[in-house]
Amino acid sequence: MLNIVIFGAPGSGKGTQSTKISEKYALEHISTGDMLRAEIKANTEFGKKANSYISKGHLIPDEVMIDKLDDLMKKKNGVKGFIFDGFPRTIAQGKALDEMLEKYDEKVTVVLSLEVEEDELVDRILKRGEISGRSDDNRETVEARLNVYHNQTEPLKNYYSEQFKLVRIPGQGTIDEVFESISTVLDRIIG
Ligand code: ATP
Repeated sequence: MLNIVIFGAPGSGKGTQSTKISEKYALEHISTGDMLRAEIKANTEFGKKANSYISKGHLIPDEVMIDKLDDLMKKKNGVKGFIFDGFPRTIAQGKALDEMLEKYDEKVTVVLSLEVEEDELVDRILKRGEISGRSDDNRETVEARLNVYHNQTEPLKNYYSEQFKLVRIPGQGTIDEVFESISTVLDRIIG
């Protein structure tokens, strides 16, 4: 299997690139953000609880997200591989993902880290907020999300680079340029 983690700050383009990767390489796209937004839209109890964290720019607690991911993966048998978008977001989630994959005799193949400068991230998120209606795409929440990213999520870069799995992708070009860089890396891995 080809199991990709797409990694990057909020607004780095993880969702956009993941969709393109899943189409080209026939991988199962697991987006925790999309899953959470679907629950919010459906107004489930879980969705309401989740939105109280998301709208503040905080993370949903690890145990909750780890259980959810386990459920999502169990439902997908016989796939060629996964693209994990928005998970892991903490070291604890990273370790949990390794354990979950191990149950299937699998592991993370590669981690694609989308590198985008902070000013550009903020610009993109505020622009997206105008049309997306997302409860977290506004100036107050963006700052909290970037802090959470630096404090809780960015340490995963070390976790994966120590395992020689981290590949940095310049994330500031056009969607197609970024995808071109990603494809080059993935084609080399597939061989
Ligand atoms: P993009 O790079 O696609 O712009 P993003 O980081 O802006 O992504 P999502 O990945 O959709 O946005 O996440 C939105 C919010 O959902 C997070 O700020 C967080 O509150 C919550 N969330 C998503 N995934 C997780 C997770 N694995 N653990 C905890 N909270 C999560």
